[in-house]
Amino acid sequence: MSVVLDRNWDLRVSAPLRVDTIEGGGEEGGRITGANGVEQELPEFDPGAPPPFKLADIRAAIPKHCWVKDPWKSMSYVLRDVIVVLGLAAAAAYFNNWLVWPLYWAAQGTMFWGLFVLGYDCGHESFSNNPKLNSVVGHLLHSSILVPYHGWRISHRTLHQNHGHVENDESWHPLSEKIYKSLDLATHILGFTIPFPMLAYPFYLWSRSPGKSGSHFHPDSDLFVPNERKDVITSTICWTAMAALLVGLGFVMGPIQLLKLYVIPYWIFVMWLDLVTYLHQHGHEDKLPWYRGQEWSYLRGGLTTLDRDYGWINNIHHDIRTHVIHHLFPQIPHYHLIEAVSSTLLYSS
Ligand SMILES: [Zn+2]
Repeated sequence: MSVVLDRNWDLRVSAPLRVDTIEGGGEEGGRITGANGVEQELPEFDPGAPPPFKLADIRAAIPKHCWVKDPWKSMSYVLRDVIVVLGLAAAAAYFNNWLVWPLYWAAQGTMFWGLFVLGYDCGHESFSNNPKLNSVVGHLLHSSILVPYHGWRISHRTLHQNHGHVENDESWHPLSEKIYKSLDLATHILGFTIPFPMLAYPFYLWSRSPGKSGSHFHPDSDLFVPNERKDVITSTICWTAMAALLVGLGFVMGPIQLLKLYVIPYWIFVMWLDLVTYLHQHGHEDKLPWYRGQEWSYLRGGLTTLDRDYGWINNIHHDIRTHVIHHLFPQIPHYHLIEAVSSTLLYSS
């Protein structure tokens, strides 16, 4: 039986249809005008019923060029972000002014999140068709912001493969009452009391979500299978090298300067990551359903995410807001996501 937290959930999906306009929606359905000009009623959304289309229908609606990965274009985004990150750090160090530092922290933390999203493309192999290039760039980007590239890549793949499954999903999933009550006080406070969940990512990397075991740094963790050991060790070594570099920088420039230039922006990045992933998995008034057993499918799980709009920050975030289409087809490069969404008119809000 599907777990529906709130029936008032609004997901307007019209992928297999050539839809020009949609009016209304939600529990009352709404009206659509097809490419043939004929108006028809949208069926009332029932989260307990299987989607009236297949994954292949959505795939077929996406233009062929949206699947093409352009390594030069991907690299141009890396270059852009690295130049901005170095420029911001140089400017902040130059002015070294208490009016400038808070602006720098907000801007640089947001840029670190941009670097994360580009590394995310590498992890999904949507950066290029060259696994070596994906791995090298992914390691450089993610290590620079203290993310173990392969460790997180592998657990994120598990998340895609189990998304929306009440027991098997990897993060932000509901807990059973039994597990919730068995958690210690520290986990209760850190996991469920604002603002601590907004700072959860490094702790999640270290020891996963409440109720799950294993670590993203440990090759023998139950997150990984034996042939992934080498990859996990490589990324943990890269992470350690970055941590050592930061300690060295702390000695060279002093711990306060390191705190101002790197540590505070790092925590702003963590807040972005936790905020964005939370917003994509949770509605405010419109709750998302969770499935289990036979009712769960890759398509249903992928559809139980939400797109969000971050306004002028969308471009800096490399359009990570287009989350539904990304969950269904993570191999689409970030710079084609908007077109892929509009071509399928797959829309949730
Ligand atoms: Zn993903």
